[in-house]
Amino acid sequence: MNGRPFTILHYDLTAGRGMRRQFSAPEQSLGGSGLAAALYREYGLAGEPPFHPAQPVIFAVGPLTGYFPLMSKTVCAFRSPYTGEYAESHAGGRLALSLRMAGYDALVITGRAPSLSVLVVGGRHMELHDVHYLAGVDALSVGKHLRRFGHGASGHRSTLRIGPAGENLVPTACINVDTYRHFGRLGSGAALGAKRVKAVVVLGDSAQPIPEGKEYPALFKDIFAKLTTTDMMDKYHNLGTPENLIVLNGIKALPWRNLQQTSDPGVDGISGERFAEQMLLRKTACSGCPVGCIHIGLLREMFAAKNDYLYRQVAYDYEPLFSCGSMLGLTRASDVLAVMDECERQGLDVMSAGVALAWAAEALEKGVVSEEETLLPLRFGDAAGFRQGMVHLGQRTNEFWRVLGSGALKAGDAYGGADFACVLGQEMAGYATGEVFFVAEALGFRHAHLDSGGYSYDQKSKDKDAARAVEFLVKDERQRVMATCQVACLFARGVYTPELVQEALRVTGHPAAADNLDELSGQVQAWRWRLKFDTGFEPDQVRIPKRFMEVETWKGRIDPVFLGDVRARYTKAILAMAARLPE
Ligand code: SF4
Repeated sequence: MNGRPFTILHYDLTAGRGMRRQFSAPEQSLGGSGLAAALYREYGLAGEPPFHPAQPVIFAVGPLTGYFPLMSKTVCAFRSPYTGEYAESHAGGRLALSLRMAGYDALVITGRAPSLSVLVVGGRHMELHDVHYLAGVDALSVGKHLRRFGHGASGHRSTLRIGPAGENLVPTACINVDTYRHFGRLGSGAALGAKRVKAVVVLGDSAQPIPEGKEYPALFKDIFAKLTTTDMMDKYHNLGTPENLIVLNGIKALPWRNLQQTSDPGVDGISGERFAEQMLLRKTACSGCPVGCIHIGLLREMFAAKNDYLYRQVAYDYEPLFSCGSMLGLTRASDVLAVMDECERQGLDVMSAGVALAWAAEALEKGVVSEEETLLPLRFGDAAGFRQGMVHLGQRTNEFWRVLGSGALKAGDAYGGADFACVLGQEMAGYATGEVFFVAEALGFRHAHLDSGGYSYDQKSKDKDAARAVEFLVKDERQRVMATCQVACLFARGVYTPELVQEALRVTGHPAAADNLDELSGQVQAWRWRLKFDTGFEPDQVRIPKRFMEVETWKGRIDPVFLGDVRARYTKAILAMAARLPE
């Protein structure tokens, strides 16, 4: 018995029209990551550059979206302007549920709009509006203008927007989702900007059927109880991921000042505890999530006139606190939030932008570049320069800022200082844990810390068994692919075991997908790798800059021989997955 096929909406901006169609099914591509990869195989142009108008930007959800808690994420697949390769980015917010309530499993956008536009889609809507007057408007302010689109569906409405960085095609531009979530990494914002799409409004304006029978409500109740009455998700709701700052600093794994240190007593000023005490205003959640890990801080700043205050709400997590905090040598919570706020407005990936600015500060300190290039002083610990730096990155003010927006390693190659560019495929995530993570991020499918648990492997394992490490990375990635096909929040991966996902697929009418879950996950894993290779990925060309070899972790100095062994074996493993080598 098979489940229902996927329903997709393909909107062609050049033609100004959209078409619904049925495409694939859970028993063929699972959903989420798998559906996105299948769609890219159909709509993508492997031989054309990322900004070719016909390249698709794809948003896909999974068969369990809207039916179970924490099935709250959407996969965005696109050709990365940063690497040139097939890429995925994941975000929460209201988007997944809005797509489900609109009756779509995926939205595929191709073509280029005649002018800067807002695309409005729903079960009963399909409109393209000219919004040339929003050119250059920041990614937060633009949200207010979008309220007039889609009256009547506000409870199930999601808005995606780009800031000036996306419009200016900065390869590190992100897509802002419902103000507090993002498709952050690898340049999805520029992919949308190249299509002249300032925003997409998704209206969940239809009703969706609930699975029949008693099994579905019983399983929902069981999962809900696991998530809310056990301590499995407490960490995420309480201090949230910022809890990691003190932990990683304690084991010498928190990058400071462009990774010149991995620990610093200044962590007390920017820890999760300090943010909770000084900055936390409220917590919120993605649609369909009872956990609520989104921590929102209140930034209070005096106007230049000095007799009134400006209040801003800025969401914070571990990663932005590392990239705009410790990496920039900032030790005051309000300074970090101020830099993040400007990054939000420009619509930049907060991790890439923060890490790129850290490189620029060290480059200036070492005399590799001068203020003639940077146009302003950038000093570790000085928030004002970094705030302005975010503006320059988003606006591409001059050649230096244009190159830096393409990545710190590209700036290092152009100006010198590539040795201290903290880039592992893209600007590093905040884990200076050791050899396995450095290889896993540098060569990983998304160059993201969430591709596999290399960071936790480093923290737990004392041996230098490269074969065992690579076996772990490949297996762990496969488990995560299973989750990103649904599309589950990866924070819930401890709850959604393969057996539980199989049960959920069965009670929602997808028994064939349930029966072949592991095999299908492996197939999606291979598809994604093949797409990455077909669009130009060459693992041998990936550089791990010298700075990473100078790191000292709780295990001591990085061992280049072990790192080289992990790298060689992982390269072989991913080539095998993409069927470039015999198994
Ligand atoms: S745990 Fe956090 S990121 Fe995950 S679905 Fe819930 S609110 Fe969203």
